[in-house]
Amino acid sequence: MSQTESRADLAILNYSPTDISLTNSSSVAAQGRLQKEYMQVAMLTSATPSERSDSLVFQPIAALESDNPAKLQQEMQSFSAQHKVNVVEEKGQFVYRINSNGKSSDLFRTAASESGLVDGERKLAALVQAEQGNLKSTYKVDFAPAGEVVGNVRANVYSAAGSDQIKARSPELFELLGLQSALEKSVPGNIGQDGKPIKFYFLADKLIQSLNPLATYQTDKDGRSSVYIWPAMADIKSITEADLSASERRLPFTDPSRPDSIASALTHELGHNQFAKLGYNRQGAFTDGQTELTDKGIKLVNEMGWRRRRDEKDADYNWFLLGKSKDDNGQPSTYMISNTTGMMWQFARWRLDGGAVDAQGKVVPADKGQTLSTTDMAKEAAVPLPTGYFENPEEEYAEGVKLFRLGPDGRSALRDTSPILYKIIERNDQSEINQSFGAAANGTSIKVRDISGDIVDNSIEEQKRLASFDDSISKIP
Ligand SMILES: [Zn+2]
Repeated sequence: MSQTESRADLAILNYSPTDISLTNSSSVAAQGRLQKEYMQVAMLTSATPSERSDSLVFQPIAALESDNPAKLQQEMQSFSAQHKVNVVEEKGQFVYRINSNGKSSDLFRTAASESGLVDGERKLAALVQAEQGNLKSTYKVDFAPAGEVVGNVRANVYSAAGSDQIKARSPELFELLGLQSALEKSVPGNIGQDGKPIKFYFLADKLIQSLNPLATYQTDKDGRSSVYIWPAMADIKSITEADLSASERRLPFTDPSRPDSIASALTHELGHNQFAKLGYNRQGAFTDGQTELTDKGIKLVNEMGWRRRRDEKDADYNWFLLGKSKDDNGQPSTYMISNTTGMMWQFARWRLDGGAVDAQGKVVPADKGQTLSTTDMAKEAAVPLPTGYFENPEEEYAEGVKLFRLGPDGRSALRDTSPILYKIIERNDQSEINQSFGAAANGTSIKVRDISGDIVDNSIEEQKRLASFDDSISKIP
C-alpha cells in the first residue's frame, strides 16, 4: 500500500452513513473493483420484498399432515430463501425446484414433513458436493474447503488486520450453477495469472467490514489467483442471464439499474483475471490497497480513453476520463471520478495539470466546476463506455470482458455501444486463448471464442461467422 496524503473530500467506499468513510488515499483500482458489487446490493435492497422473492413460490399447506402447519410452512420458506430452491407440495410430497439457465428443474423429492425437509438439506448438500466435483474435473478449478482460513478481518481497506479470522463456508448450489455458467463462457479464464487453476473461496463473513461486494479477484494468502464470493452474493436473484426477467433483459447494459446475475458477476471477476494474465498490472492482493499498472497497462488504458492526472501523483483517483468537449486552452476535457455521496458517482471536470473547469471550458474555483452524473458522463465520454459501471479503467475493462463473453446479447451490446473497447477485448481475449491453446506454425490461432461464448476450433466457417458479426460495427452510424 502506498503511503500518501489523506484527502478528506473523497469519502469513497462508505457503504452506509454509519460505516467508516475511507478518506485515506491509496490506489483506487484496488478499492474500485469492490465498489460495483455494493452498488448492485444497494439496488437489490431497494427493491420491494415481492420483487426480491418473485422466484419463490409458496402455497398454503393446510392440507399437509403436520402437527404444526405454521411452523412447517415457515421452515419451507426459510429453506427456499437460504438455498434459492423452491419447496412445493405435490401429491403429498415435497418437490425441490430451482430456476437456472432459463428453466425450472426438479432436483429431488422428499416426504412432505419436517423430517422431509431435514432429508432435503441432506440431499441438497450431496448435490453441492457433486457439482463441486463436476467443476473441479471439468475446469480443474479449486475450492477452499469449509473452515479454511481466508484471512483476518479488517474494518476497512486501510486498517490493520484484526484477530478475528474469516473462514470459507460451503457453497450453495445456486452459486455453483452461476459459477458453472461463468466458467463455461470464460475458458481459459479458469486458469489464473500464476498459471494454476483459479481457487474459489465462499466467504462465511465479510473480510473487510466496510465493504459489501458480491465477489472480488485477488491473490490469496498463498499467492494464488483467487476469486472470493462474499456473503452479498445471496442477494442476487438470477443465477444466469437467462434467468433475468423479460423486463430486466430489455434494459440496456449501459443502464446502471440492469441487475447482474451470479454468472455475469463472476464473469466480471474473471475479466480482472484476464487483465492480470496479460500483464497490464502488477497484481497484488486487493487488501494491499494497490493495483499498479505496467507500462503496457498504461498504454492500454490510454487507448480506452483514460488519462493520468499530472497535478497529484498519488491521489485517490489518478485516472481521468477523456471527454468530447474542449477546454478554452484547446485541450480535450477530462473528468475526475469521485464518490462523495455513498452510492452515486460524480464526474468533476478537471484539468490533468490541475484546476476545476466550468461548462465553458474555463478554469474556475473548485466549487464552481462542472459536474456530470453517470448518465451525462456516458454521453460525454470520448471513448464510449460498455456499461454503467466505469469508476476506473480496470472496472471498465472487466465489464467489457463480461459483455464479450456473456453470449450474443452481451457481445452485440459491446460491439454496438463501444466498438473501440470491443476491438481491444476481442484482441486480448484471443491473446489469452492463444496462451492456453497455442497457435499454428503460421501464427493462426488454434481456438477462438464463438459468439455464444464457447471456445471452438478456428475453422474457415467460424472465421466467416465472426467476421460477419464484426462487420456490422461499420454499419453503426
Ligand atoms: Zn471489478
